[in-house]
Amino acid sequence: MGFTLIELLVVIAIIAILAAILFPVFVKSKENAKRTGCLSNLKQMSVAIQAYQGDNNGQYPGSGTYPWASPDPREPWAQHTGWVKMLLDKHLKNRSVFECPAQLNGVRTGGRAPWIHLGYGMNEYLFYRHYGFLVEGNLPRPRHTVLFADCNRHGMVHDWNADLQASEDGLPSGMNRVRYADGLYKGQWRIRHSGTNILFADHHARIVLPDQFKIDKPTQSICKEYPVIWPNAIPYY
Ligand SMILES: [Zn+2]
Repeated sequence: MGFTLIELLVVIAIIAILAAILFPVFVKSKENAKRTGCLSNLKQMSVAIQAYQGDNNGQYPGSGTYPWASPDPREPWAQHTGWVKMLLDKHLKNRSVFECPAQLNGVRTGGRAPWIHLGYGMNEYLFYRHYGFLVEGNLPRPRHTVLFADCNRHGMVHDWNADLQASEDGLPSGMNRVRYADGLYKGQWRIRHSGTNILFADHHARIVLPDQFKIDKPTQSICKEYPVIWPNAIPYY
């Protein structure tokens, strides 16, 4: 004996309801998996950078423009991604670690195909452009200092103290670059996970929610960088 039409419709309705209930759960668990994968990437970068520092008197890699990064297309290490090369040379062979599983875009770099679509930035404060090579033990507040973070553009987290390109949120552009880690995408500022995954300089990693980004009133100078920044930042200089 087959189904009557009514029975069939009831079955279809039940399936539709179940799908409607379960779909957000699937989406959520997929998001959670990406967030966890991202934290795992940061942890691997943490291990690699500590190994690098072990070989280099505690110094951080020069994360900036020098010596490899160049906007010249014949030299395909993108600007500000020198730290990636320095870690890859010896301490972290898996190139996919530099790509956040949730990112919408990334900085193409890597020196050769397959390219790395870099989804993270290193804190500019920690490399030599401004301060000379910093040694980890000299950081006054490593627990509040960003080391690597989900971020848009550059492969570098910087302009902590610059109002340039500041959004209406009243935060400096560097902080917004981390908060909106996927940047301006299709006309909207995008938060990458439900927040931003950050590895701090004391090597703990966690998600920072959008409303947890805070800073003391920035000073006027653009070049003096804040490190970062929870709850309120005190500039290091
Ligand atoms: Zn991420």
